[in-house]
Amino acid sequence: MTANIIDGRALAAQIKEEVKSGVEKLKSEKGIVPGLGVILVGENPASEVYVRNKARACECVGIYSETIKLPEDISEEELLNYVDKLNNREDIHGILVQLPLPEHINSEKILFAISPDKDVDGFHPINVGKLTTGEETFYPCTPSGIIEIIKRQGIEIKGKEAVIIGRSNIVGKPVAFLLLHNHATVTICHSRTVDLPKVAKRADILIVAVGKPFIVTDEYVKPGAIVIDVGINRIKKEDASEELLNWRKDAFEKRGSTLVGDVDFLKVKEIAGYLTPVPGGVGPLTVAMLMKNTLKSAKKSQ
Ligand code: NDP
Repeated sequence: MTANIIDGRALAAQIKEEVKSGVEKLKSEKGIVPGLGVILVGENPASEVYVRNKARACECVGIYSETIKLPEDISEEELLNYVDKLNNREDIHGILVQLPLPEHINSEKILFAISPDKDVDGFHPINVGKLTTGEETFYPCTPSGIIEIIKRQGIEIKGKEAVIIGRSNIVGKPVAFLLLHNHATVTICHSRTVDLPKVAKRADILIVAVGKPFIVTDEYVKPGAIVIDVGINRIKKEDASEELLNWRKDAFEKRGSTLVGDVDFLKVKEIAGYLTPVPGGVGPLTVAMLMKNTLKSAKKSQ
């Protein structure tokens, strides 16, 4: 068997088109333009890229976006003031504080200060609580992107055996709840799980969010399963195997490194039914779902 390779970029483009239509409708019918406020503290290059991508996506779908760049040495109190200002602005429907924050700032305190009604990342404890009880709310973007990927393949989740490797608050746990609400039978694995390949091989739906390159090989996969690879790992040329050097020749020539997932793609694609690549799988969906959440918030604000 050779897996269907899921094109995350195409799915994300589809979702962004839907959001764009929704934005145009909201604008013409109610005169409301959805707005996203993004706070970026310091000069972390990866965070700058993420924030730029989010601003670009907003522009693409017609959402107003405003990035507030603040210095690394800003105090917690000053940062809380910025969050509060965004909480009180009528033209801003979604607020996002790009992580990680500098060490002297308590990230939890900042994230909890965001109004739950504008928490488009879905990290506020009120929204986390609603997610666990199955109430309608803002669901975190990567987990809800994963659900979209599965559904848009025409795969029914109900009754399926789902195994998630990774129990983080931003991916593993929320995606487990979403799968549960969609009536899957869910198992969550982690670093202390005994005989991981055996547990993983039970899965019709296998989600891998660990952050270790190629940890999941074909021994972990039931033939025909859908495998969603959330991991993002950068491999430098000097650390790459001969196989990887050949496979990602262009990336190594251009950048001296390449991005890979947690799944051993070349082996697993021979056994899985569906498989997401890295890059170009889950990643693009995360930004698309942020756009969807921002539109949802603007609609709710009426
Ligand atoms: P965390 O580091 O928070 O969590 C990793 C999880 O993996 C933990 O639960 C840990 O177990 C588990 N784990 C670690 N080693 C093993 C092992 N050998 N066997 C089984 N489980 C193991 O990571 P995140 O959830 O934040 O992110 C995971 C990956 O997904 C990262 O590569 C990250 O970059 C990527 N990511 C991608 C996104 C996207 O948009 N595509 C968005 C968010 C994350 P334990 O709890 O026992 O320590």
